Amino acid sequence: MTESNNKFRPSSKQKPQDYIFVHQMPEGQCSYCDREREAGNDFFPNHTASWWCESGRYNHCTCDKCF
Ligand SMILES: [Zn+2]
Ligand SMILES: [Zn+2]
Repeated sequence: MTESNNKFRPSSKQKPQDYIFVHQMPEGQCSYCDREREAGNDFFPNHTASWWCESGRYNHCTCDKCF
């Protein structure tokens, strides 16, 4: 299961230095992430939306760009 690491490889598009990408937040930080952790599920929409998201960049975005 190493495919997920390659899926969101950054493109050449510019993005801010402080843009931090997170797949899953530490326990207690996000109810969505906690729920997936408890379910033992490692395949779910990333906590941080992709920089190139075109749907508002909400957490756990499921648009075509993010998921
Ligand atoms: Zn989350
Ligand atoms: Zn998105």
